Amino acid sequence: MHKPGLLPVYSPSRISTYESCPRQYKYRYIDRIPREEESIEAFLGSRVHEALDGLYRGLLLGRRPGLPELLDTYRWQWGRHWHDRVRIVKQEYSIEHYRRFGERCLENYYQAHTPFDRGEIVGLEHRVTSSLDPDGRYRIQGYIDRLVRAGSGRYEIHDYKTSGRLPAQGEIDVDRQLALYQLGVERMWPDAEEVELVWHFMAFGKELRSRRTSEALDRLKSTTIALIDRIEADTEFKPIKSSLCHWCAYQDICPVWKGDRPVATPALSDKDLGGGRSQETPAQDDHRGIDLRSVSREALREAILAAAETEGAEIHFDERGHLWLRMGQLAPQASLDGKADGWVQLSDEILSLLFRQVERAQWSAKFAEKLGRYLAS
Ligand code: SF4
Repeated sequence: MHKPGLLPVYSPSRISTYESCPRQYKYRYIDRIPREEESIEAFLGSRVHEALDGLYRGLLLGRRPGLPELLDTYRWQWGRHWHDRVRIVKQEYSIEHYRRFGERCLENYYQAHTPFDRGEIVGLEHRVTSSLDPDGRYRIQGYIDRLVRAGSGRYEIHDYKTSGRLPAQGEIDVDRQLALYQLGVERMWPDAEEVELVWHFMAFGKELRSRRTSEALDRLKSTTIALIDRIEADTEFKPIKSSLCHWCAYQDICPVWKGDRPVATPALSDKDLGGGRSQETPAQDDHRGIDLRSVSREALREAILAAAETEGAEIHFDERGHLWLRMGQLAPQASLDGKADGWVQLSDEILSLLFRQVERAQWSAKFAEKLGRYLAS
């Protein structure tokens, strides 16, 4: 229990975590047990948000990137941030599936909103804070993806969603997250007479909108205060077993699972790294018995060499570990450090170019992912 006046600052995601599973809440927010793992859905969402943040920051500077550039940036960021603690729970889908899903989200969004000239951008990834009570004991904070002034006294809170499920309007109308942000906007921008909440369900190319009356906001304050009181009074933090457990980073220490982790696998599994056009099985993928679950740079190098044979690609690692690829007729790109005989040294900076080359060479996307993973490591 916290002493009066010293309640932590709550966020919508903190509250939702408790509602889904009090034990997960305890591990994350009270015990603060660090976890490097992240789900591929979270990874994908971060990359899409980054790409849109970059798009709008460019617009603020008077520059509008085209869709190909936006997608290149997204792919480059994907490779740059990729790490071997990204987990795929839905094993029927590959890393490539998720990467392309993010691309489709961005394509849908770009096509629906270009030339991006509606309203004035007030803030991007903007932190808002508010209190639920007059004494300021119950504090809330959050980050608005994009805050827009749509006219005199009219504000819009925009939120990007990469979810594969499109909610009904009725769900949106009682959604807590953006309504709590509205309290922050009304406090921080006193000229806000009207606030509209806008969700972009990018996978569907759909925009959903909602407004809250002052009575609805008062009810929201009361129910949220009651929920915070319940959290503060909890001493047991009982685990709630559900399908969400498969995405939980604490499954390994959770008593419900007794240390078992039967469903989730690291994204860099043999299967996902193996790929290639030959539909290899996990056992066939790793010709040298490399355990890619704890993949090291050395192991990845071995796997790339093995896969290059299947792909018909010529690969060379120099003594400093730099990766060279013979591009042949595909080669010259001004920014590739090409040699006369068609060899180019690949680097993290040119990952998006690499993906284009891969498409032209018709090497498999999974092979490209191996290369990208090596460059990012
Ligand atoms: S594994 Fe499931 S029950 Fe255990 S903490 Fe995570 S979400 Fe809760």
